[in-house]
Order: sequence, then C-alpha cells, then structure tokens
Amino acid sequence: MSTQLSSGKGVVPAHGDAIRIVPLFETSGTPTVGAAKAAPAVAPLLIYRNGPLLTAVEVFTIFWGAAWQQGPNVALVTHVNQFFDFILGSPLIDQLAEYSVPGKAIGRGRHTGTLLLPTPAPKHTTTDSAIQHMLQHEIAINSALPQPTPNTLYFVYLPPGVRVVQGGSASCQAFCGYHSDISGQIFYAAMPYPGCSGCTGGLNAADALTSTSSHELCEAITDPIPGQGWYDDHNGEIGDICAWKTKHVGAFTVQLEWSNKAHKCI
Ligand SMILES: [Zn+2]
Repeated sequence: MSTQLSSGKGVVPAHGDAIRIVPLFETSGTPTVGAAKAAPAVAPLLIYRNGPLLTAVEVFTIFWGAAWQQGPNVALVTHVNQFFDFILGSPLIDQLAEYSVPGKAIGRGRHTGTLLLPTPAPKHTTTDSAIQHMLQHEIAINSALPQPTPNTLYFVYLPPGVRVVQGGSASCQAFCGYHSDISGQIFYAAMPYPGCSGCTGGLNAADALTSTSSHELCEAITDPIPGQGWYDDHNGEIGDICAWKTKHVGAFTVQLEWSNKAHKCI
C-alpha cells in the first residue's frame, strides 16, 4: 500500500506503489508531487494493463465523523451528494469512453446512496488501514451500506481536522485524496477535508472537494486496482497528468482528465 510520492516518476506500476493520489496544489500552479507537472518530461500516454475497469460505476458516499452533521459541513455533504447525483450521468463520464476495451465498455454510472457515520469516530490521525478496517466492518454489519460489486466505489469523506496517513505520507503534506482497493474486491477513495491551501488550490472547500473527487472518480473508473488499468509509468493515472486544472460541468467544478485521443487534458 505504500506510495512514495517523491519517487513517483518512472515508478514501476506494481500494485501497491502505483500513483493514485491527488497531489498538493502549489501557488505556482505546479503540484509538488505525483509527477503531475505542467509540462511532463515524458509525453503522457496511458497504457492499459489488462486489469478491471469500473464500466458502470456505483458510487456510495460515506461521511465519517460526527462533524459532518454540524454547521457548514451539513451543506457540504449535500453539495457532494448532489455532485455525484449529477456527475455520474454527465459528459465527464462520457469522455472516459475512449478507454473502453473489448468486453469492458465504460458508460455512465449512478449514485446509489449515502451514509452519515458518526461512530466509531475517526481518529485525529487516521490511517489507510483504519479506513479499510472501517469499510470492511461496516459492509459486514451495517445494512445501510451496499455490498461490494465489481462496479461499487465507496467514497469516504473525513471531517475537518482529521489527517489521513497512507503510504508513508499524509494529507495536506503530500496528497489531497487517493483511491485504492482491498484485495481487488472493494474499491474506495479516501477524501480528507480540504483544510490547507495545498488542498483547496485557491477554490472554496466545496469546489475543491468536487475537483479532487472528480480526479479520484475518473482514476478509479479507469484504474480501479492502481497500476493494473490505464496507467502511465512516467506520469501516473488519468487525473494525475492534469492535476488542479479545472473546468465546470453543469454547476460543478471538476478536474480535467488526460485524453490519449486528444493528446491533452480535456
Ligand atoms: Zn491521481
């Protein structure tokens, strides 16, 4: 599960160390890590590695921690859920169709539900293994969660003030979100609250969160087991190449994604 961010360039995309994060935004507009430079040293090209794809993604959102039920966070929950209600049936997903392969046609998805999970509370510093443990535990005991299918993608949102540690680095220090899998069976994204300038990128919290969520969504669809789907050894996944370049789809801020066909971020 380790992701050495500073050594991301040229990393062999073995499962476990493939790049699957949203790197921090820098005021220069160049992300600090994750090989997502404004002008990549090696021209981006995603190559398919024969792994699974999420062809009709079913997103379930989990807002972990009691703080999501308080103050302005309540509106943020609504915003993120409305984002998924809309975006999974939008042109953002349609543009991923170029990454369809025989027998795996990438189409639109749907938002299957949401859960507020106040207890057990996430720790002040929450590790990726704690997130995996929570997910597996809730899937086992909580009927509010859908059972995982080959298209299920759980999005876990951490509340303000909670730091997420994954692969030897931390949110707001090296990343603003990531996606991963548990044994190739459970696909998930972990989204820390954008509580630092490196993870707002000059946007408000709501727009920053939909931007980073769109990054992880498109990466999870095209590379659900990091490094085994569409991946570029030099530049990472589809969203890494275009980190912090945003556009609007409908009323929502999303990130641009790399297009092999157009040879640019679209
Ligand atoms: Zn990424």
